[in-house]
Amino acid sequence: MEPFFRFENLGQYAECLHGVTMKNAAHPLSFSMALHTGETKETVIANRKTVERLFEKKQICHFVLANQTHSDHVHVVKEPETKGWESLESAVLDCDALVTNLKGVMLGILTADCVPVLLYDPVQKAVAVVHAGWKGTKANIVAKTIQTMQCEFGTEPKNMIAGIAPSIGQCCYEVGEEVASHFFHLPDVLNAKHNGKYMLDLPLANKMQLMQVGIAEENIEMSGICTACDVEHFFSYRKEGGCSGRFMSLIGMQLDV
Ligand SMILES: [Zn+2]
Repeated sequence: MEPFFRFENLGQYAECLHGVTMKNAAHPLSFSMALHTGETKETVIANRKTVERLFEKKQICHFVLANQTHSDHVHVVKEPETKGWESLESAVLDCDALVTNLKGVMLGILTADCVPVLLYDPVQKAVAVVHAGWKGTKANIVAKTIQTMQCEFGTEPKNMIAGIAPSIGQCCYEVGEEVASHFFHLPDVLNAKHNGKYMLDLPLANKMQLMQVGIAEENIEMSGICTACDVEHFFSYRKEGGCSGRFMSLIGMQLDV
């Protein structure tokens, strides 16, 4: 079985490598990638090693993860070194978006319902991965990530390619007014219900934010997969009652061969 969900648009660029891990019963913990949720560390690291082997053949040397905190903090990876991969302690602290122009470095984000966004600039040669839950989306973390790429690498949004990975869909994401009120300026992402609650479309909110900073709509690919509807293949914190598994979205550029 193909171990990853992949995007067609990002997949067109040989230099850019990406993948979104999926649940897999052939591996322990259904192939969870999370070190922070209490499972045996060695088991999770073994799962990560499986991912590593799949990319190693393609000129990837390092993997970088963050200690995600639902912030809008963006970190630029400037050193070719592995962080957060075999221990939580070495992860980039208090951060929800990673960017780099280093080749051979894979950036990863862990989620189970929140929105993972993968970004690639094929002109200036840079990548980013973003974790956008409702708090990150409220803070427009995707725009902040792209601003960082503009400052650091001269990225122009019109050149960028984006993939919005499996995340909880509007079909399954009911929120109260206190959350919905942060998105009243994006009316298309909310459906008001009779009980005073709202159905929130977080993947669409992130797509709109990407378009607002100048990424072309045709360069944004939505997975179209709701994690809560598809718990067979993805972890869903809501649907699975606070499950502890997480899947990982990764992006990087291979070393010149
Ligand atoms: Zn759903």
